[in-house]
Amino acid sequence: MPGCDHSAAYRAPKSRDALREYWWFCLDHVRQYNARWDFYKGMSAEAIEQELRRDAGWQRPTWPLGRLGGGQASTDDLEAAIDGFVHSASAPRSPRLGTPPELRQPLEILGLDWPTDVATAKSRYKSLAKQHHPDANGGDRAAEERLKQINLAYATLRAWLRPEIKVA
Ligand SMILES: [Zn+2]
Repeated sequence: MPGCDHSAAYRAPKSRDALREYWWFCLDHVRQYNARWDFYKGMSAEAIEQELRRDAGWQRPTWPLGRLGGGQASTDDLEAAIDGFVHSASAPRSPRLGTPPELRQPLEILGLDWPTDVATAKSRYKSLAKQHHPDANGGDRAAEERLKQINLAYATLRAWLRPEIKVA
């Protein structure tokens, strides 16, 4: 996103006509982008980019996409995991019937649907932890913070799913 200095770890399709081409955003901006997805309906990728640039606060003349792309998140499993994460990060879903309230936030952070199980949670956690590890983000502080949230979310979820196993 023009003017944003956070590392761009989340991708979103450029438009409905270019679902396999992506822009990369930080978490806040991918949420913002996804929240406006309906607004972009029918617009070309170019028109969406113009719209993004017009938006207040995003007026920087440069579009440092190359730098933000950064070569992160290149493996298939990681992309699959992040896809789920990004889509769950779009407009808030109505609370699902039967989801334990204390798990709603952890599930959202991990991009998981309820019900889930230990194997699914563990697999998603490993992908996200790899993605947000500070070593993979040039020691980025924001990535470190996200990793902490992911760790906490996983610990909470796992403790709920398998209360007999302690999570370090
Ligand atoms: Zn951003």
